[in-house]
Amino acid sequence: MAAVLLVSPAMKTGYLIDMDGVIYRENQLIPGAADFVDALLATGTPFLFLTNNSAPTPEDLSVRLKRLGIHGLCARHFYTSAMNTADFLTETHPACTVFVIGEGGLLAALHERKIANDGIDPSYVVVGEGAATTERLTKAHEHIERGARLLATNPDNWCPMGSEKTRPGAGAIAAFLEASTGRRAYYLGKPNGYMFHRARRKLTEFSLAEPDAVIMIGDTMETDIRGAIEAGMYAFLVLSGSTHLEGVGEYVYQPTRILHSVADIAEEVRSGKPSDRMNSPGFNGAATNGHRQGDRHQTDHPHHAKARPRPAMTK
Ligand SMILES: [Mg+2]
Repeated sequence: MAAVLLVSPAMKTGYLIDMDGVIYRENQLIPGAADFVDALLATGTPFLFLTNNSAPTPEDLSVRLKRLGIHGLCARHFYTSAMNTADFLTETHPACTVFVIGEGGLLAALHERKIANDGIDPSYVVVGEGAATTERLTKAHEHIERGARLLATNPDNWCPMGSEKTRPGAGAIAAFLEASTGRRAYYLGKPNGYMFHRARRKLTEFSLAEPDAVIMIGDTMETDIRGAIEAGMYAFLVLSGSTHLEGVGEYVYQPTRILHSVADIAEEVRSGKPSDRMNSPGFNGAATNGHRQGDRHQTDHPHHAKARPRPAMTK
């Protein structure tokens, strides 16, 4: 199913690593994840954790991993969809102002880029995870009706809270505003190429050289694997998160390799030699967590809704 990736020992490889389902799940470290991160740190391999969760700051994430037992990380090892949104606005519209529905990670990222909050006439309504009250949604709706553009940090309709529990994601909040205003949101975060493009640039800055190869490791086909393939990177799927092996064949795009978990490649990172644990045939029906039905991301399904005409401006 998946092609064998040949990595020569001389190749300088950089890693982009998803977190939920790859490093931890339900506040439990995935076995072997700490050893994998140790191998990356010990070999000086450039890497970046890449998450669509726009709520935490990179500092929050580094503390979270420390509490779970992964040491030696700092804020610069993390790149979130909130940081990607701030980068996008700084690059495409530096003087813009924003009305934000989101939490600390998003507010901090925008603040760091000196993007001003504007409750009167914002250029953008920016939607991230959490903080959606009826009052904020009504305000956002009004701003969009008056011409503000709708931007979401990521397309996730829901985010896992455990094997049974989920919470609404930025995609669902943006969908609410799409329905109420008839306008389409633009979704940053994985699988948007801008997320991968900026992450690759960050990897290059850290390693002071362009990596010969960039490998994205993730557990979700629609975001991690799709985005990596479209950005011209290698895509390693791990089965320690949300994807069942049986479902992989249904996708048009396919991972470069399929692994049980990141534990499969720790040795390979240390030695620089391809491991014989690649495409592990021994999955033998490994237990995977429950599969939730329905489109996970707001960008997964074609949208046929026609924009309704906007009301005439009165001011
Ligand atoms: Mg994940």
